Amino acid sequence: MKTIVGIPVSPGIVIGNAFRYAENAINEIIHYTIQKNQVASEWKRFLQAQAEAAEEMDVLYRQLSAEGASKEQMDILISHRMMLEDPDFQDQIKAYLEENLQNMEWVVQNMGLIMKERLMASRNSFLQERAADIDDVCNRLIYKLLNIKRVSLKDLDKDVIVVCHDLLPSDVLTMNKKRIKGIVMDEGSRTSHTAILLRAFEIPAVLGVSPSVKEIKDADELIVNGGSGEVIINPDASELRRHQSAMARYHRRFDQLRSLRELPAETPDGRRVCLKANIEIPEEAVQAAQYGAEGIGLYRSEFLFLSSGQFTKEEEQYQAYCQVLTVMGNLPVTIRTLDIGGDKLLPELMEENEKNPLLGWRAIRFSLSHPDIFKGQLRALLRAGVRGNLRIMFPMISGVEELDQAFALLEEAKAECRLKGQEYAEALPVGTMVEIPSAAITADILAERSDFFSIGTNDLVQYTLAADRGNEKVGYLAQPYHPAVIRLLKQIIDSAHKKGITAALCGELAGDPSAAALLLGLGVDEFSMTAHSIPHIKKIIRGADLAGCQALAEEVLRCTSYRQVALLLETWMRARFPDAGLEKHE
Ligand code: PEP
Ligand code: MG
Repeated sequence: MKTIVGIPVSPGIVIGNAFRYAENAINEIIHYTIQKNQVASEWKRFLQAQAEAAEEMDVLYRQLSAEGASKEQMDILISHRMMLEDPDFQDQIKAYLEENLQNMEWVVQNMGLIMKERLMASRNSFLQERAADIDDVCNRLIYKLLNIKRVSLKDLDKDVIVVCHDLLPSDVLTMNKKRIKGIVMDEGSRTSHTAILLRAFEIPAVLGVSPSVKEIKDADELIVNGGSGEVIINPDASELRRHQSAMARYHRRFDQLRSLRELPAETPDGRRVCLKANIEIPEEAVQAAQYGAEGIGLYRSEFLFLSSGQFTKEEEQYQAYCQVLTVMGNLPVTIRTLDIGGDKLLPELMEENEKNPLLGWRAIRFSLSHPDIFKGQLRALLRAGVRGNLRIMFPMISGVEELDQAFALLEEAKAECRLKGQEYAEALPVGTMVEIPSAAITADILAERSDFFSIGTNDLVQYTLAADRGNEKVGYLAQPYHPAVIRLLKQIIDSAHKKGITAALCGELAGDPSAAALLLGLGVDEFSMTAHSIPHIKKIIRGADLAGCQALAEEVLRCTSYRQVALLLETWMRARFPDAGLEKHE
């Protein structure tokens, strides 16, 4: 038995068997020297791997043609199959083996890199595109050499805990969520989009365990505690019993909390706030309603594009928005325009590899430079607006210029609807996401032009502290309790209230029980979070008086470090809510 600890990002305890998902582990190939007399046996391993890979591709070919795959897909497969048995490719590998005397996995990987470099240097775009084909063929061979099963996360047919180096948000969207009971990952942090999705899908997860993922072998028995961050490898009987009873207690407590569903989020001294849900795909709206959400505070519309991996047409967007509005009835639904870029890449629309994607062509910057895509989305929103209580908001606004441009395009989109004779909502409320320090500092100016604010603390923390939210190495810096962040929050909320607009908060901080009293005291009007967190936050709001929360906020504003803030909040919470640490699960 061994315990490793990572970042707890999605609560719940799960017991199951590890499935080492190796799509990225190919980077970790072991490298060893062989003797001259071993060349023949290494070559034999290559021929064996080549035959197995060829057979696998033939099966895939038959399967795809039976499913009616496109000619383009079939052509790619045919070209990979040809490359696999290309005599020139084989000769190069054999020569490289004889010259370098290294194990076959390493030879294939390095030969692949050399071939790719040659193609990339050719300046011929057709040849450059072939570089990806080399990767595919070489990886297929390496999987065979390493005897790793290449199972897609979409096709899993048994319950597993996925153990891997990293997963992209798009992997999470497309994986078979019924079969994946838990996730353990080397990379990632609490506010990475992968973590946000895992919480949304209620899959217990521990991320950022690097480099300990290596300690877990395929089929090892694991306990994953997504509340405490512990991963126990091959637990003994007493550890299993301890976690089984903790699991039962967690579910009992959670069922009790769910009974608050119909009650208002109101403090004993009468301060009423609104608790809403964040969603990434339309289907989540049903779950939001079940947890008692009073609306959708953030619909991350870009996931519609990321789920399919391609540009989504105006009509499909319109249908998705209407679907959410229908589920929510009269309740307000805030749809954020595309926040593509950063860690949410859509190769079809992103033209180049950026050096600093988080500081680059993301969100409103991308939309403003693609007016056709942006106006298509705005038209879909305007049209859906007649079907429910819809609000729009713009992400990553850095100043008034961007806001003014976005409003100008909104007016153009309305004119286009009129021209086409389409019914649309003329006066949808339009809000600004405040998630960049420049926007926070000029919140008084932005408030003049906004119908509401929604504070994105995930990005506000990232950009205020200059700490990449997806990088576990700087995770310790990304502190929402840093005095700089708290001061910015106060400034944003006060500016909103001075102009008579509401201040919502839709970053992960909104669903953190230890922050709820502070946010209430700072004046947050609306909290929007993963639906599952709503009962936890409601319990705290119903048990904390506003005057006490305001006094707490004043004390927090006098703190000089995030540690001091964290300690103060912990002491305050422990005195009033001794069992609020549900997320920690014992
Ligand atoms: C945020 O930045 O806090 C936010 C809610 O937006 P996202 O997490 O999608 O960047
Ligand atoms: Mg954001």
